[in-house]
Amino acid sequence: MTTDASCSAVRADRARDRIHRLEFDVPWPPKHVAAYLLEGEETILFDAGAPDETGEAELREGLAEVGYEPEDIDHVVVTHVHSDHIGQLPVLRDAGATVHAPARSLSRLERDLETAREGFTEMTTAAGYEGDEHAEIVAEELEELRRDRRLVEPETARAIEPDATVAIGGREFETFATPGHAVDHLCLETTVAGTTVLFSGDALIEPFRAGAFQVGLDRGADEAVDAYYEAMDRLAATGAALVFPGHGPIFEGPQGVVEATRDRLDALLEETREAVAAVGPASPLSIAERRVGTVRHMAPLLDTIGALGTLERRGTVTYGTEDGVRYYETA
Ligand SMILES: [Zn+2]
Repeated sequence: MTTDASCSAVRADRARDRIHRLEFDVPWPPKHVAAYLLEGEETILFDAGAPDETGEAELREGLAEVGYEPEDIDHVVVTHVHSDHIGQLPVLRDAGATVHAPARSLSRLERDLETAREGFTEMTTAAGYEGDEHAEIVAEELEELRRDRRLVEPETARAIEPDATVAIGGREFETFATPGHAVDHLCLETTVAGTTVLFSGDALIEPFRAGAFQVGLDRGADEAVDAYYEAMDRLAATGAALVFPGHGPIFEGPQGVVEATRDRLDALLEETREAVAAVGPASPLSIAERRVGTVRHMAPLLDTIGALGTLERRGTVTYGTEDGVRYYETA
């Protein structure tokens, strides 16, 4: 065992020994969300699992399995403000943990509700929704914003700056702004037992690409796919040997997954272009339905809106607006 490869494998095993994975059930594939406990002089938890009582029981059980309880967690680091990553922040905060969240998440959570309502209304109309369905979607988006505020509590959380070196719990982290799945998403890199590791949240997942949710059905939704490509460009700079994602298995060497994610975005653009050619001029909702059948969840619609924005800026498609609804066609 004298080769460099075997030495780095031993180091990687030591890093894995210091990082414990907790899993929470969620209703959507792959049916779980992960959080990670990093041991050290101060204990840091990356992401905070699913909400509600089930999530709390899973948090307590997951911590107990590795000999911890909520009171032992000094810091919680949030990669992005989606409910399955911030669910147990209140329990951890009450137990004494300091919550650290992306600076952009905190300013977005503190935005004025009326301005938020206007943005949701405008984009829900642009997508092609009307009537009761339209009203329900706007109400849901606002409810999510209120819920996220309660969970994160922006007035007490500490801001993590993007593309910076930051100190948390006596450790240094390099942060990467990685929008696309969420506009405020951050990945954090640090060295554990001689191995560079990356906490990638939902920006890099091995078996699939997380939806281009970006801002939800709000102004800027059509920038999601461009932002996703930018995130992949930034992550091309990470030298991490091990990646700890929000969903799917822990994996080695992020560059293969960066490439796979780019390929998946390329495929989304091509599918969207074909759908516009088949049904245009059509609303984003009709184009999404052409792509995937019935749109029951936001993911295929937001992917489609993001892809349409990129195709429009590239000159492949164009749109006109009628009563606030966007109709896309091939340029
Ligand atoms: Zn997630």
